[in-house]
Amino acid sequence: MKVHTHTFIIHTPRAPEFIDITGEIESAVKKTGVKNGTVTVYVKHTTAAIRINEKESGFIQDFKDYLNKTFPPHQYYRHNDMKIRTENIDCDDDRCDKNGHAHCQHMLLGTSETIPIVDGKLTLGRWQRVFLVELCSPRKREVVFQVIGE
Ligand code: ZN
Repeated sequence: MKVHTHTFIIHTPRAPEFIDITGEIESAVKKTGVKNGTVTVYVKHTTAAIRINEKESGFIQDFKDYLNKTFPPHQYYRHNDMKIRTENIDCDDDRCDKNGHAHCQHMLLGTSETIPIVDGKLTLGRWQRVFLVELCSPRKREVVFQVIGE
């Protein structure tokens, strides 16, 4: 059994946005030579998520609408209120104190997905794609792929 870990940098264009990273995962798995095992896809951020679903523009717009209706970007968030906030205030990027909605949206989604690898291929269903979901703003994101198997 071997463990292969790779970190990929992905620049996101806007938020909310669903970026299909299935091809990157397939290439990374192929390069490892692992035939049977799992790949975990993990994002190292609190305002971007990893999710599996269908790449269909109607559904994606429906879900963007749901995220923005549930946690609208322009309503009051304690996270954005620098008059009361005392923690994690050393970020030099001014987007960090305006993204309360993105943290809340992220809690509905999640940080990783794990996909079985069988005969060297991801066992995705016909309509399944893996998405990096940007929730904050255009950013540089780090996505870790860890392949475990033989
Ligand atoms: Zn924040």
